[in-house]
Amino acid sequence: MANINAVYCAFEPSLEDFETAFVGLFMAQLMGANITAPFKERAPKLCTVYADDVKIMGTANTISKTIDGELLATNTDGRGLILDLDNRAQDWRENAKKITIIGAGGAARNIIPALLATGAETINIVARNIEKAKQIDQEARKLPLISPHQKIEITSWDNLNHGLKDANIVINATTIGLKGDGDLDIDFGPTKKDAIIYEMIYAPLVTKFYQNGAKQGRFALNGIGMLVGQGALAFETWFNQKPDFQTGLDLIEAHIKCL
Ligand code: NAP
Repeated sequence: MANINAVYCAFEPSLEDFETAFVGLFMAQLMGANITAPFKERAPKLCTVYADDVKIMGTANTISKTIDGELLATNTDGRGLILDLDNRAQDWRENAKKITIIGAGGAARNIIPALLATGAETINIVARNIEKAKQIDQEARKLPLISPHQKIEITSWDNLNHGLKDANIVINATTIGLKGDGDLDIDFGPTKKDAIIYEMIYAPLVTKFYQNGAKQGRFALNGIGMLVGQGALAFETWFNQKPDFQTGLDLIEAHIKCL
């Protein structure tokens, strides 16, 4: 028990009213907020102070009001993913030389700073819209690197197998697999045999991408752990208390099974 007198509520402003709703809620003494798609790029524009990666990549999922009344924009998505991998795939860092991210939307952009910070050598973005991937690459070049060997490669959608070749981790950062959005049906043959197949989607808990990974002998994880991880880090940002990752994961899994 954290013994905090607070409530966490969901708001869904219309696309047109986001800025008004955001400013109004913080004027009404809101202390912090999580921001989800499609507002992760618009929220930081309303803030006054920024974490370094937000300054560079331009997206935030966690906003906090500081004691000076400033609005601080941070991003816990990428670090939430890392927290999940550290918990559910303990030795992953030793082998994470090539990480392939499928998709070049907000989620791909959000996780790259944290992946580079772990020392990953090659991040390969497989995108149907190459221009979006190039823009992410341009911005990511401004991030501090761990070693001069780190690089981002871009692969076109038609050349997926090249992107998958020898990958240690493959991340689905597209919306394909969400209910009504079709299936991402991939043959993971070109990846390393012990690759981690990471499905960022958590509803449904099992997608074709995840299923194929598990069936093909890879280590498959769904996005529920990242959801818990980014939430735990946001909680820590607001309350300076570190929630237990496993307790959060157990609670949310039990909750989803009851739905
Ligand atoms: P987004 O900004 O809308 O980006 C979606 C990406 O998917 C874009 O690159 C889009 O390509 C690509 N895409 C969609 N349909 C496609 C298709 N048929 N063929 C090829 N590419 C396609 O969404 P997002 O915010 O990045 O979210 C991506 C996923 O991550 C979602 O499923 C979301 O639920 C998940 N997510 C999970 C967590 C978590 O905590 N587990 C956190 C954040 C996000 P174009 O650019 O060409 O349109």
